Amino acid sequence: MKSFDDVKLLDVQLNRLRRWYSDGVLFIGDAAHAMSPVGGVGINLAVADAVAAARLLAGPLRSGRVSGHVSRRRLARVQTRRWVPTAILQAVQRMIHTKVVSVAVASADPEPGRVIGLVSRSVVLRRVIGYMVAIGPLPEHAPKFGRRAS
Ligand SMILES: Cc1cc2nc3c(=O)[nH]c(=O)nc-3n(C[C@H](O)[C@H](O)[C@H](O)COP(=O)(O)OP(=O)(O)OC[C@H]3O[C@@H](n4cnc5c(N)ncnc54)[C@H](O)[C@@H]3O)c2cc1C
Repeated sequence: MKSFDDVKLLDVQLNRLRRWYSDGVLFIGDAAHAMSPVGGVGINLAVADAVAAARLLAGPLRSGRVSGHVSRRRLARVQTRRWVPTAILQAVQRMIHTKVVSVAVASADPEPGRVIGLVSRSVVLRRVIGYMVAIGPLPEHAPKFGRRAS
């Protein structure tokens, strides 16, 4: 490497498509809603989208009723199901960017910010955050055909 310009940094984006589907195509995960690293929730959210898509679309496809073409209405159901958890987690990430990350980056003071202090003192807040990171809002459950027989 000759200079720092040779280093490729990963772009951090936080945004989402207005519509996640069109004829013959469905966007899920970061393709539909780019997540920032904050909270480490993006991978869980992408996997939950995939589980929801399998639950809503694989049955009709497997039965042959839709002969390889999934209607827009059916694709829209995946977005309807996954939009709320996405919007909630993106709103929380945006809030953390503004209230915690930006404040910490701008400050020369090594003390944790007010939000971090509040969370570390509250068991309830810590539990809620733990649930949001590990499980997330509106958790998805794999359809029966996708589960390993025990
Ligand atoms: C710097 C950074 C750190 C992050 N850290 C975390 C973290 O610690 N925990 C967490 O949960 N989330 C984290 N996130 C968010 C997380 O990475 C994403 O939300 C998550 O990876 C989305 O998964 P995905 O499968 O939708 O997309 P991706 O993980 O981006 O997967 C898409 C895949 O498709 C491939 N691809 C693209 N185009 C084509 C093509 N034309 N043909 C074939 N393949 C193609 C790509 O190479 C890639 O492998 C982080 C994000 C960033 C930017």
